[in-house]
Amino acid sequence: MERLHARYPFLTAAREAVEAAGVDLADLVAAGGQPVERGLDRVESAITDGTVGDPHRTPRVELLSYPVARVLVSLVDRPELTRVYARAEAATAHERLRSDVEGEALKSTAGGEMTVERLLAEFDLDRDVDLDEDGARVGVSAYLRLAADLDGEEWRLAVRDLSDGWVPVEREELYALLRAAVRDRVTEGLPLPVPEAVAGNLESEREAIESALADYDSPRGIDLVVPGLFPPCMRALLDRARSGEDLPPNSAFALLSFLTGIGMDRDEVAALCDLDPEAVEYRVSRLRGENGGDYPPPSCATMQVYGDCVNKDDLCEEIPTPANYYARRIDGVEDPTDWRETLDAD
Ligand code: SF4
Repeated sequence: MERLHARYPFLTAAREAVEAAGVDLADLVAAGGQPVERGLDRVESAITDGTVGDPHRTPRVELLSYPVARVLVSLVDRPELTRVYARAEAATAHERLRSDVEGEALKSTAGGEMTVERLLAEFDLDRDVDLDEDGARVGVSAYLRLAADLDGEEWRLAVRDLSDGWVPVEREELYALLRAAVRDRVTEGLPLPVPEAVAGNLESEREAIESALADYDSPRGIDLVVPGLFPPCMRALLDRARSGEDLPPNSAFALLSFLTGIGMDRDEVAALCDLDPEAVEYRVSRLRGENGGDYPPPSCATMQVYGDCVNKDDLCEEIPTPANYYARRIDGVEDPTDWRETLDAD
């Protein structure tokens, strides 16, 4: 089992490596220990901070933790967990791909090295993507499939150049499209059927994930709006929105998902952000998409990636998400002043 497989455990070669090693999942789970602990960490980290946590130092443990994590996600069997977990695996793969391709390519004696070309071949995209110096041209069918769930209006085909059935993309955009392909690969087959014998040995891990999910869900039901108690990052984004700045797509989604996550409806968001209700309609409707909650409130880790984690205070050191920060600040607050009455004073 190679380091490359541990870094990209969704690869066909990684699955084959596990099979070739003769690892039986039931025996692995029955034995417990590091692969199970790391598998649980993968899922809990996906819930709390949108990542899969720190990799285990041993490639074998790291690789085996991936099928364990998939079993745990299947045992809980909640669509929002599957979505959050797949996005976390994809976000981690995205960062690793960028690092491996733009730094010194990751080399592994038997597993080869990770390259964009290798990932394209893995997802049968090699004939749909034509690489060039600045990025690539992507066949329109593949583009539409991969960009369908990406955040931001810039992904809509209507605003892209289209020439002879190809859509030009920059290098960073190509990584984002590959992230979508990884997310789809991770989601494939979930939930898995889990034999009783395996489920019985993972009862405490399943309960731990249910508990983490309950903590994650609860801030979304706060239904109490006190802008003065918002986390520093959201106060900063709100100030920028109210001053008329057109926020970058990721920042706008972060702010809107936070505000809708604490129970505000579209008109309230528009009033608080000093925007025309029509101006927020498109993004809020996407936040609350057909499947509900497709864009959960962001984690602090995600906010940091996009440079929106600013003005941190002491409480920031103790919480995984801006919503958790707000839940802590709002705890015990009763009968607050109506937030509309505070707007003119801001
Ligand atoms: S640590 Fe989290 S809550 Fe605090 S400012 Fe950064 S993103 Fe916001």
